Amino acid sequence: MSREPQQLKMDFGGGNPFADTLRAARFMLVVEQNVPAADQALPSAVALGRALVERAADEELVAAISLTDRLRHPATHDPVAFAEELTKDNRLPVMLTIAGQGSTPDRVLALAARAKSAGIRNFCSVTGDGAKDHPSVRNPRVAAAYPAGYLDGVDTARLLRRHDRSFCIGAAVNPFKYNLADQYLQYYKMIRKLESGADFLITHAGWDMKKLQELQWFLRMRDLGHGVLARVRLLNPEDVAELDSCICPGIYVPREFTASLQRECTVNASQFLSAQLRRIGLQVAGCRLLGYSGVVLAGIRNPGVLDMVLKEINRALPEHTTYHAWLEAWNDFHGGLQFSPAPSPFYAFQGLLTPEHATYDPAVCHPTTVAFAPPVLSDRIGAIALPLLLSAKTPESVRSASRFLLRRRDTTPPERLRRCWYLDNSPCPKRLTLGPCGGSGPRGTCEFGQGPCFFHRIFALAAARHELDQLEEGIDG
Ligand code: SF4
Repeated sequence: MSREPQQLKMDFGGGNPFADTLRAARFMLVVEQNVPAADQALPSAVALGRALVERAADEELVAAISLTDRLRHPATHDPVAFAEELTKDNRLPVMLTIAGQGSTPDRVLALAARAKSAGIRNFCSVTGDGAKDHPSVRNPRVAAAYPAGYLDGVDTARLLRRHDRSFCIGAAVNPFKYNLADQYLQYYKMIRKLESGADFLITHAGWDMKKLQELQWFLRMRDLGHGVLARVRLLNPEDVAELDSCICPGIYVPREFTASLQRECTVNASQFLSAQLRRIGLQVAGCRLLGYSGVVLAGIRNPGVLDMVLKEINRALPEHTTYHAWLEAWNDFHGGLQFSPAPSPFYAFQGLLTPEHATYDPAVCHPTTVAFAPPVLSDRIGAIALPLLLSAKTPESVRSASRFLLRRRDTTPPERLRRCWYLDNSPCPKRLTLGPCGGSGPRGTCEFGQGPCFFHRIFALAAARHELDQLEEGIDG
């Protein structure tokens, strides 16, 4: 028998309509907007934003406005002031995304305090995309786009929780990963975020509904009842014109889907829009049937398009009320199109998105078994020897004789070393220690394109030592 997921462990002190909707498990829509870049004229951005928010507020299903901070630009207008401008005299609460690019604990706490004074109580913590002009590992002398580095989403969630226990805090997870290490690293880090202070999850954007079902099955397998919002993105003709295989880090589009979008685009603008509307309506209906708490609507740039999207969703939801009917409609619309951008994609379960399995049942929904890649010998030796060498009991003479093995690690903070299984984390351009960002490519390549994601080495060590559970431990304090 499938166990019922746990009840949401939330105590938001009441009076927070977004949190109330999440807790009541009422399916919701959240409309996403970006805080404008610092060099963009503010009055026109506010006017457009207010028009969008006003249209969103007319729709009963819309429960919040999501404002992304530093999503596309290293410097943006003040997110709290922008939020206040947008939602003046409006019923909709704001969910403020705090991105880790160039962020510090002081910045997070200062933003949290100002947001709280402005009545904002919902947040989402993300590590953030890499800067385009980030110094490469091979050429570290190039000036860093973010001198403060990247604050991990785990840290942001932890700091927000410590700041105010009544905050409703979301954390990002990217289920659109296509190899074993990347996918499980995402899931373990997701649990770490929940253990460190997050209340709910928001997925990256993507179109592979098999992956959205996989995440729901994984949560049920682990008996985690937290609410999850799926981020669903409306594609615009400009997105498709520039499309190669990647819309932005972590959002990869398979060649076949790109070709299909380009065909839709070449007919005419209104047919392109109607195909995107139909797709988004089907996707939102599918998310509801797969068990999502709601969707975050991204990529909508004007109130007229928002109006059409909301009307399409209102048409699609009552039309698709059973998993089987929805699955048939989804497959019919796409004609068997595969959404995985990798040739031999990894899915964590067998039988995903088939008519036989509408929901997770442990008796028949089996995890996929794939052999783990073993750690390289030097990492294995380092993970055993370094804790001993760095111990206070080790005589200095032994340490001196082991300079080669220690390299820079005798000056690295012990906590960082322990988190990284005694590996030097400088191969990670974002210098993360708590788990990967969501930006790796379909084959596990780092978002910056310099070899495999660093965390594959940590995954290999943890798997070889049967200590994978350590990758999901919460961070205190
Ligand atoms: S090494 Fe991994 S975690 Fe670090 S930036 Fe690259 S993809 Fe992200």
